[in-house]
Amino acid sequence: SKTKVIVIGGDAAGMSAASKIRRSHEDWEIVVYEKSPHTSYSACGMPYYIAGKVSSEEDLVARSPETFRDKYNIKAHTFHEVIQVDPPQQKVLVKNLQTEESFWDSYDKLLIATGASPKKPALPAVDSDGVFCLSTLQSGINTFEYIKKHKPKKAVIVGGGYLGVEMAEALLEKGLNVTLIDRNHYIMKTLDQDMSEDICGLMKKKGITLLLSENLTAFEANESGKVTCILTDKRKIEAELVILGMGVTPNSELAKLAGIKLCDTAAIQVNDRMETSAPNVWAAGDCASSYHILKKKHQFIALGTIANKHGLIAGSNMSEETLSFPGVIGTAITKFLELEISRTGLSETEAKALEIDYETATIKSSNFAGYYPESGEIKVKLLVEKGSRRIIGGQIIGQKGSGKRIDCIAACIMGKQTAFDLAMMDLAYVPPLSTVWDPIQIAARRLM
Ligand code: FAD
Repeated sequence: SKTKVIVIGGDAAGMSAASKIRRSHEDWEIVVYEKSPHTSYSACGMPYYIAGKVSSEEDLVARSPETFRDKYNIKAHTFHEVIQVDPPQQKVLVKNLQTEESFWDSYDKLLIATGASPKKPALPAVDSDGVFCLSTLQSGINTFEYIKKHKPKKAVIVGGGYLGVEMAEALLEKGLNVTLIDRNHYIMKTLDQDMSEDICGLMKKKGITLLLSENLTAFEANESGKVTCILTDKRKIEAELVILGMGVTPNSELAKLAGIKLCDTAAIQVNDRMETSAPNVWAAGDCASSYHILKKKHQFIALGTIANKHGLIAGSNMSEETLSFPGVIGTAITKFLELEISRTGLSETEAKALEIDYETATIKSSNFAGYYPESGEIKVKLLVEKGSRRIIGGQIIGQKGSGKRIDCIAACIMGKQTAFDLAMMDLAYVPPLSTVWDPIQIAARRLM
């Protein structure tokens, strides 16, 4: 009989794998169970949707369950939650969330692609109306609708990571008064503090109240259950809207209960073919671990870029084609208003923790030729390993066109290039787009 594949989770990793398997095997049966109302949505687009830059939530859906069913013959069931996995019997217990009925379904090959969940602190009144975490598309729609209906004026964002920064921009652009609190002494802690300070500077200039080294302790709500303020270890802040961006944890409970091995980050342990410890069970995306090439250990990094690659690799191996995932180096990018922010490899903080002997150079230059209209500043920080001069990390903060320059540094790290290699790399130049020595090469020259 034909092979049957079950995929748990119908977003980036799950659907990348399902689509790959369909491309390789026209006749295999592919069933996807997704507990939310949507498949293949762009969680990454939600801050821009909430800001009003995306005209409809439908624009964030790449492929609907109907498209998967009709065009790709992939049976995508939304509102279906898998509540148990039984690897020895090769079956899963599924609950239809609309009818409340449960049923067992059996597989030859299983992919767990359940993603990650936002951390929600167990604090008083955390479930009040107006307190939001962003994860699924539905959570973004709920936030958008709440703002539309209640027109809050005062917002508090808890956590100054990527989500916090993107939501700060979104809410500022919607005209809200924004306070951002972070328990750390600087925001965007995947960067070093000297780079992060530029973002803090712009935030303050744009009227954001930035409260650092401050811990959230409770929420308060009115009689109708709506949030009215948050409490920290230092003060009380009025809030009609609260966004929690306190990080995410991998959705690995199903796997854990099924006896599948997790790593110490609680993500599902996978090898370079995305195989788990259970036979015929693969895992991909935010729920799974990734090997960090520079740290030489498995890490939990929740990013859409990685989830899509995991999905393709898992789908290939499930299709009986051998492909290996080389690992990650922590490349990420975001923006806050006119400032583009990116990083790759190791920060100084990480290099220190790994006891790597490193050298660093930070330069300020121009994103385009200085005489060209609208040229602005770019700041590049580069790290090399002392003896080998190999590039091991980079951080960029700057105006238009700055951020994606990180990709070139990422390519250098993955290709084991030295500072000299980067300085001499044949990169492109035209005055409206760059400078004759690209800023990343100016930084590299300092470390040759
Ligand atoms: P998910 O997208 O989380 O999908 C998992 C799916 O599984 C969910 O739809 C969930 O409902 C379903 N599910 C879970 N458990 C079950 C179950 N038991 N049964 C059935 N279904 C289940 N990444 C970037 O690279 N760049 C960005 O700019 C970026 N911006 C982001 C902005 C926001 C607001 C958020 C929330 C995330 C952002 N990310 C970004 C991260 C990126 O969205 C995730 O890394 C990516 O979606 C992970 O894909 P995934 O398929 O592993 O998991």
